[in-house]
Order: sequence, then structure tokens, then C-alpha cells
Amino acid sequence: MKHADNALYKAKEKGRNNIAFFNEQMQSSTDRRLELEQILHHAIENDRFIIYYQPKFDRERKLCSAEALTRLQHKDGTLIPPVEFIPFAEETGLILEIDRMVIRKIFRFVLENRINIEKSGMKSIAINISSAQFMMADFVQFIITEADRFSIDPHSIILEITEEAVVSNIEHTIETMLALKQHGFQFSIDDFGTGYSSLHYLMNLPLDELKIDKSFVDHILDNERSVAVVQTIITLAQNLRLSVVAEGVENDEQFRALYQYGSTVFQGYLFSRPIPEEEFSGQLAEV
Ligand code: C2E
Ligand code: CA
Ligand code: CA
Repeated sequence: MKHADNALYKAKEKGRNNIAFFNEQMQSSTDRRLELEQILHHAIENDRFIIYYQPKFDRERKLCSAEALTRLQHKDGTLIPPVEFIPFAEETGLILEIDRMVIRKIFRFVLENRINIEKSGMKSIAINISSAQFMMADFVQFIITEADRFSIDPHSIILEITEEAVVSNIEHTIETMLALKQHGFQFSIDDFGTGYSSLHYLMNLPLDELKIDKSFVDHILDNERSVAVVQTIITLAQNLRLSVVAEGVENDEQFRALYQYGSTVFQGYLFSRPIPEEEFSGQLAEV
């Protein structure tokens, strides 16, 4: 029965009107899912999420912002990267709880480091918001209440949402964004250009920033099409008066090209990898 269930699950995953036969591989992927689900439940109950911060720099190569990136600390101490648990957390709905825990942790960090953040000249912290979270009817109330509780100025918070979140329910998205915008929160479209980019939503959303996906940055030196896409995104952002972040900048040549095309903010291993909270807090104290 268990094997039949596995095959049924696989068939459903492929879409409607499909069949699938059980094989050993399915069993190991089911085992892995069960294990991951247990790890996630354990992590939520025992507060095992750790926030790393990746600094972002302006055109003068001055620290201007940082993106919060979550890792899960396993019982044995190893860190599980988000690519390994976020998609699964999204599938199972556990992301809703995780996102909220993470938001509180980030707000606490901002509160505790307020003085050094101000001294460093850093203007914002960016938080990734899953599309499921963004669709929740009480999300606006949640984040406003938490910001208030931790005395956070919403103007210093950038919410990174994906194109998927935007297009899955455009009316609701506009409403949510306008409500949060009124309180001062800023908005960025993450991985811009990889989803259903629509000029229509760019016209109607209260956006502050576009993030050029790393996949375009990766090929900016060897692929004319990537260059064209990047230049187009930058021009679009400039004309819409949005700032534009290049992510995944790994070497000086990429930086120089992006600088020349007009990117306003840079993020990537060239400048800094994501670093643990305590280390980042130490860096802020030194700036
Ligand atoms: P993202 O938002 O596109 O984050 C950028 C990812 O690129 C991060 O991976 C970062 O470590 C990596 N990165 C930055 N610069 C470079 C570079 O120069 N070279 C290379 N090779 N990689 C670079 P990370 O931390 O593994 O996060 C992966 C994804 O997981 C994120 O992609 C984001 O979609 C998701 N994620 C992370 N934290 C959270 C969270 O707290 N909540 C939600 N909902 N999603 C999160
Ligand atoms: Ca992001
Ligand atoms: Ca991204």
C-alpha cells in the first residue's frame, strides 16, 4: 500500500491523467521527504533557524544595505542551506511559520544593533517573503504589529517578493503592497526577469527596486544576450526611478560592466559572502 501511495503521489506530481509505476528511487525520495518534514517541525519547535546577512554596496562601494538569508541548524550542528528546505517548506505550508519566525529574528537584530546600523550608514535590511506568506490575509497586520513591537521604522525594511507572488493574484498583491507602502515598507522584485515579467505590473505596483537575477550576471562577460537583458532591466529601472541591484557579482570584470551599465547596488561574493549574525554585528560596530 505504501508503494502504491508513492506511485500515486508521483503520478499526481506529473499533472492530470498520468500513471506512474513504483520504483526504489521513489522510496528513497519519500524517506528523504519524511526526514525533511521531521527536521522542519523540530526546527520550528526548537528555534533552529539562523540568519545570515549578505551586505550590499552602492556605486561608491559603501555598505548601503544587507539581505537576510536563512539557514537551518541541524541537531548535529551542520547548517542546511535554504535551497534544501525552502522549496519543501513552501510545498508543505511550513514556510508560513518559518517566515514569521525569521521576520521576528531580523527585527530583533535591527533593534539590538540600531546604533551601529545608523553609524555605518546602512539604510535598509532586505527580507525574503515567500509568495504564500504574501497571500495570507493577515500578513499586513502581522508585519505592522511586529515592526511596532520591535520599534522598527518600516522605511528601513525592504520586502523582496518574486514575480510568482505578483502574478498569482495581481489584485490582492496590489492591495497588500499599497497597504504596506502606506506604512513605509519598501518593495523589491527578486530574480527579476526569470518569471512572468510583465510591463503591466511594473506600471501598477508601488515598487522601489528590481534585482537582476544572478543567472544574467553570470553570463554578462560571455553572452551578448545576457548583456542585452541586463542593460534593458537597468534602463527600465532608471526610467521608472527604481534602484537596481545586481546580485551574484563574483569578480571585478562583472562589477565594472554592471557599474558601467548603471547598476545602483551590488551584492555578491566579490564583496562579501552571507555572514553569520554575530560576525555582521561585529563588522557594523567597526565601520
Ligand atoms: P535569493 O533571494 O536569490 O538569494 C540570493 C542567493 O544567492 C543566496 O543563496 C546567496 O547566498 C547567493 N549568492 C549571493 N551572492 C552570490 C555570489 O556571488 N555567487 C553565488 N554563487 N551565490 C551568491 P542562499 O542564501 O542559499 O538562498 C537561496 C534562496 O533561498 C534565496 O535566493 C531565497 O529565495 C531563499 N531564501 C533564503 N532565506 C529565505 C527566507 O528567510 N525566507 C524565504 N521565504 N526565502 C529565503
Ligand atoms: Ca532575495
Ligand atoms: Ca535573487
